[in-house]
Amino acid sequence: MFLRFKRLLSETLSVEESRLPDRLVDKALTDTLFFNTLIANRENPAFISAIIEREWSEADYNRHKTEYYLILKGIKSLLKWSAFGFGKVSRELFKKRIGFCKMCPNLSKAKGILYSISGASNSHICNICGCPINRKAMLPTEQCPDIVSYNPPLTRWNEEPY
Ligand code: SF4
Repeated sequence: MFLRFKRLLSETLSVEESRLPDRLVDKALTDTLFFNTLIANRENPAFISAIIEREWSEADYNRHKTEYYLILKGIKSLLKWSAFGFGKVSRELFKKRIGFCKMCPNLSKAKGILYSISGASNSHICNICGCPINRKAMLPTEQCPDIVSYNPPLTRWNEEPY
C-alpha cells in the first residue's frame, strides 16, 4: 500500500518518485491536513519543492515541522475568517492589538522559505500561533493565544479569550 500510495502521490504532484522521501509519504498517509495541503498546492512547484527539499532530512525534521504547522495554522485562521464574511475590526481596535503585539516577547520576524512563498516574509509573526500579526490583528475571528491573566481571563490583547 505504501509503494502504491507513493506512486500515486508522485504522479499527482508531478514529482519523480525518487525525489519523494519516505518520511513525506508516510506523513501524507497519516495526516489528512498535510495530505490536503499537498494536493491543494500540486500546481505550485515552488511550494512542493520547498516541502521536499527543506522538510525531510533527519536533522531538520523537527525545525521544519514547526514551521510547517505554523503555516497551516495561518491557513486555518484564513478559512475561519472567510466563513465570517471577511469582516474587519475597527481601526482603533486594530491599533490597540498591534500595540500589544509590538511589546510582546512572542513576536518575531517571519523567517523561512514557506513564509516567503506564502507572501508573509516581510511580516512579523506571533511565535505561538504562526500568524502574521498585521493580518491577525484585523480579524474579528482572531484572538491572542497567550492568556496572561486567569481571574478574569485575559489575553495579551487585554481581551477575554473565547
Ligand atoms: S498575538 Fe498575542 S502572543 Fe502573539 S504576538 Fe501578539 S500579543 Fe503576542
